[in-house]
Amino acid sequence: MRTLEVIRDEVKSCTKCSLHASRTNTVFSRGNPEAALCFVGEAPGEDEDLQATPFVGRSGKLLDETITALGLDPAKDIYVCNIIKCRPPGNRRPEEAEVNACIEYLEQQLDLVNPPVIVSLGATATSELVITNLGITKIRGRFFKCRLPILYKRQTVVMPTYHPSYVLRNGGKGPVYDDFKKDLESAINKSKE
Ligand code: URA
Ligand code: SF4
Repeated sequence: MRTLEVIRDEVKSCTKCSLHASRTNTVFSRGNPEAALCFVGEAPGEDEDLQATPFVGRSGKLLDETITALGLDPAKDIYVCNIIKCRPPGNRRPEEAEVNACIEYLEQQLDLVNPPVIVSLGATATSELVITNLGITKIRGRFFKCRLPILYKRQTVVMPTYHPSYVLRNGGKGPVYDDFKKDLESAINKSKE
């Protein structure tokens, strides 16, 4: 059977794109695969590459603090992963060929986790999960159908919001943080419906 562990192992030995050559570790997921709320980021950064876990650096800390402030436990109540599983050198944006090589893992992963609500963090994740040509500022906080075919059929919804690193670049508090927190709150409410 194709379980999450089988896919994780496949990813571990994957050489489908050139990022395999520079990675320390593949980065598959953290949190609870039974959770009703899933977060999808862009790609592992340095901390994630070293620890083989998504969102463990400053961005992840902000995400977890916000989740906790909203009454959820980041270890039990959410599932966290990325569009691609290996770190792009120097944290550059993933290239189209890299996303195309990797996206089937994400689709299979989300198929098995089957969350009713997905939050896409930032522009890269949003453009892979939602059909839109509008920027994140215009569409954040609203619910869209997931464009990945398996999830589209299932009517899984995606809510785009700011990437936590963007929130941090804006001081980590103030109006951008308030919007981020408000978005997370409405995603949490939706996941409880
Ligand atoms: N940024 C991301 O998009 N993903 C991570 O896992 C860490 C930082
Ligand atoms: Fe494979 Fe994805 Fe890593 Fe590329 S980024 S080597 S496709 S797991």
